[in-house]
Formats: sequence, structure tokens, C-alpha cells
Amino acid sequence: MLDTVIIGAGFAGLSAARTLMNEGRGNFVVLEARDRVGGRTKAGKIGDIPVDLGGMWMAPTQTRLKSLAAHYNVQAYPTYLDGNAIFRIGTRERQGPREDPSRLLGIAGGLAYLFAKWKLERPMARLDTNQPWAHPRAKELDATTVETWIARNVYHPLARAAFRTICNSLLCAEPSQVSLLFFLHYVKSGGGLDVLISADAGGAQNLMFHGGVHQISRFMADEIGDRLHLNAPVTVIEWHDRGVTVHSEVGTFSARSAIIAISPTLMHRITFLPTLPQPKVAVHEHLFMGSSIKFWVLYKTPFWREMGLNGTILRDDTAITPVMDVSPPDQKNGLLVGFFDANRAINNADLSVEGRRAIVLEMLVEHFGPDASEPLDYVDHDWTDEVWSGGCYGAYAPPGVFTPYGQTLRATIGPLHWAGTETSPQWTGYIEGAIQSGERAAREIL
Ligand SMILES: Cc1cc2nc3c(=O)[nH]c(=O)nc-3n(C[C@H](O)[C@H](O)[C@H](O)COP(=O)(O)OP(=O)(O)OC[C@H]3O[C@@H](n4cnc5c(N)ncnc54)[C@H](O)[C@@H]3O)c2cc1C
Repeated sequence: MLDTVIIGAGFAGLSAARTLMNEGRGNFVVLEARDRVGGRTKAGKIGDIPVDLGGMWMAPTQTRLKSLAAHYNVQAYPTYLDGNAIFRIGTRERQGPREDPSRLLGIAGGLAYLFAKWKLERPMARLDTNQPWAHPRAKELDATTVETWIARNVYHPLARAAFRTICNSLLCAEPSQVSLLFFLHYVKSGGGLDVLISADAGGAQNLMFHGGVHQISRFMADEIGDRLHLNAPVTVIEWHDRGVTVHSEVGTFSARSAIIAISPTLMHRITFLPTLPQPKVAVHEHLFMGSSIKFWVLYKTPFWREMGLNGTILRDDTAITPVMDVSPPDQKNGLLVGFFDANRAINNADLSVEGRRAIVLEMLVEHFGPDASEPLDYVDHDWTDEVWSGGCYGAYAPPGVFTPYGQTLRATIGPLHWAGTETSPQWTGYIEGAIQSGERAAREIL
């Protein structure tokens, strides 16, 4: 009999396995549905450059990911920020430093933005990310969408558009779809709005890895060895006082406990016998995954820098936002990354890659001139079409879900322990949150 079956080999499941191994508790298996590890991180290539088709950036304050990268000797480099960002909200275009809302939104728009941010931070100050549902105004905040909050609290049209774009970019969802309580929880778990939207030192988009963050998951998997089973979707989990019997496409495994490290929105694919408590079933059924298509464009050189631009484009009137310069500093090519997020991802998912490439290049030509029309390569990846993710970057809660059922997200049920970035009170939705959740779930059974 095994001690543990870990389900899912994303950063959460791999971190759980690593924690158990480090504690000398190696009597486990990891069952992964895909033919690869890494989950919502994934290897890709543009030209000869390895890139992350999924999760990519690390904030300097993300200590767990930082220490894994140091352990496996994977080096980080910063997003390029010298020069001006292009910001077009409404019809007015401005250029300025990326991190300065008053330059990018104008004086009135910038002040309205800062005032609204202050209003957002007031309820956030009383929110405990370990139990957001215990907020003194939880029910009221959870009955409100982010869009309703914007309409009531943001007094300038440019600032309103900025908050909508922020919601699209952070959650890959529309503000009308997201609970305000959940939004506050998500933002606070990563250290606040300024941290989540920024790419400067301290920001969530500050650092990425030579060769890609996805390598780290492969290094972790190598250490797990033949305890890892790929192409092993779990279909049934029987659970009882003495443990679990887990049925997968590569066999049946009995263990004293299970760590289930998959996204809550995919839980319905597993039959639990007996059925899980109804509030737990409800939280799985009522959360939704965001939608995103991530693209890369490779040029011979980062020629936009000669125009005084840093490659960042933030707009609310196109299918694409944001775009950023992520050229690795050790080579001469110019590399841009960008996203179709939220409804823009869903509405462009059925286009061919050539169709999306045309949309992207048209916008780049508009800002960077005709040189932008001839990239060396274009690559994109549609996460709405990934069967074992069902979207990205993470799950979000619509109104009325977090308050009644949120506390079931990571609460242990008999031998069943729950991991995955969505269960983390820190950096929920991010790789760091996934690592934290895996370590926490492993400690629960040590
Ligand atoms: C386009 C994109 C951009 C992102 N950008 C960033 C970023 O810059 N920085 C950042 O920190 N985060 C980013 N993220 C989010 C980050 O990638 C995720 O938060 C993180 O990887 C989630 O890890 P996880 O282990 O919790 O879940 P997952 O990675 O989803 O792992 C779950 C695993 O479980 C497997 N699984 C599912 N069902 C079953 C089953 N029935 N049986 C067996 N296995 C199963 C899946 O195949 C998967 O491998 C991004 C994500 C995407 C897609």
C-alpha cells in the first residue's frame, strides 16, 4: 500500500512530491493525465528561442519559485522597460513610463484611477486571504461584480477603461463575470494591484527565465523518477476512513491519502465514491476558468527601441492587450509577447493562426511602422482549447460562490487533500501559489 497518490503534475503536484521526498516520505505515485509535466506551464519555441507558451513571469518577491530556479540553476532576466509604453484607452493615445498612470491616463484620468484604487484598497485591508469569506462585508462584496464596482466608484471614463483592462489581463475574464470579493482576494494574495500590474522591480511581470520556467517542472519530475506516470488520467477515486483507491488509465492505486492537485474546474471529470459533500461539489461546479491566447512575435532586432519605445502596448480597443518586449538580453533578436484575453480570446479562438497573426501584425505596424509587418516568426497558443486545463491563467469566482462555498476549496475531507494554485492564500492563480499549495498539502499528511 502506498502512503500517497498525487493527482496532477503541474507545479502544485510536483511541489507536493518534492516536499514528501525531502521529508523521506517517498512511498507515493504521481498520476498525470497529459503526456508531459508542467500543466499550465508549457514549452514552446519561436525561431531557435525556447519560450513559455503558458506561465512565464516571476515577481522578485516570489521566494518559492526563486529558490527552485536557484536550485536547478535556471537564470532569470527582466522584461525590457527602458523607454515609453504606448497606452491607448478610448480614442486618445499617450506615451510614457509604463508604471505611471497619471502620464498614461492624463491628469484627470490618472487622479480618478488613484482615487478608485484607494477605494478598492480600503475593503482589501480588512480581507484575510486565508479566509476571504470571513470579511465583515463578505456577502455584500460577493454580491457585487467588478463591473458594478467600476460603474459606482470610478469617475473618469479612461480610469474605468483602465480597470476593465486590468480585470481582463489579470483574470482573463470580463469584469461583469467576476465577484468583487474574489477580485479583492486575488489581488491581495499577490501583494496588491501595483504589484500585479507592474513589470518593474517588485512587479509580477518583472522576471522570466532563460530557456523558460517550464524547464523547472521537468527537473522536478526527473527527481520523482518512475513514481511519475504520464498519460494517466484519473477517472474514479474511492475514499473511506482507511484511505483511497484511485483508478486511472494506467492502473489502480491504493494509498493512505491522496493529494488532488488539479484545477477545481476539472474536478467533475473524476467520479468520487462516495460523492463529495455538496458544498465542495458546488465550489467545483461554480468556479470558471479564464480564457487566454498567448502569442509571440520574433523580429531580427528590437527596432522599436530606436523609436524610444519599450515595446509595451496597452489598449482597450483591439483584440490584443497587453504586448511587451521580452527579448532575451543574450541575443540580438527582438521578441514580443502578448495576449488575447477574456472575451477577446473566446471570440478569436476559432480563427486560424494566420488570422490571429494578421490581427497582431496590423496593430504592431500601426505603432512600430512597416518593419513590423515582416517578423521572422509568429507563434500562438490557445489555452481555451487545452482539454486538461480548460482555460487559464486560473479559476475565478462569479458572484455568490466564494461566501457560501469558498471555505471548502482546500479543507481536507478524510484522506483527501487539495492542492493547486486556486487553493493558495498567497499568489493564487500564479506558479508561486501552485508551489505553496503543493507544499502545504504535503505537510498536511506528514
Ligand atoms: C498563458 C498563461 C500565462 C500565465 N502567466 C503566468 C505568469 O506569467 N506567471 C505565473 O506565475 N503564472 C502564470 N500563469 C498561471 C500558472 O501557469 C498557473 O497558476 C500554474 O501553472 C498552475 O499550476 P497548478 O499545478 O496549480 O495547476 P496545473 O498547472 O493546471 O496542473 C494540474 C495538472 O493536473 C493534470 N490533471 C488534470 N486533471 C487530471 C486528472 N483527472 N488526472 C490526472 N491529471 C490531471 C493536468 O494535466 C495538469 O498537468 C499563466 C498561465 C497561462 C496558461
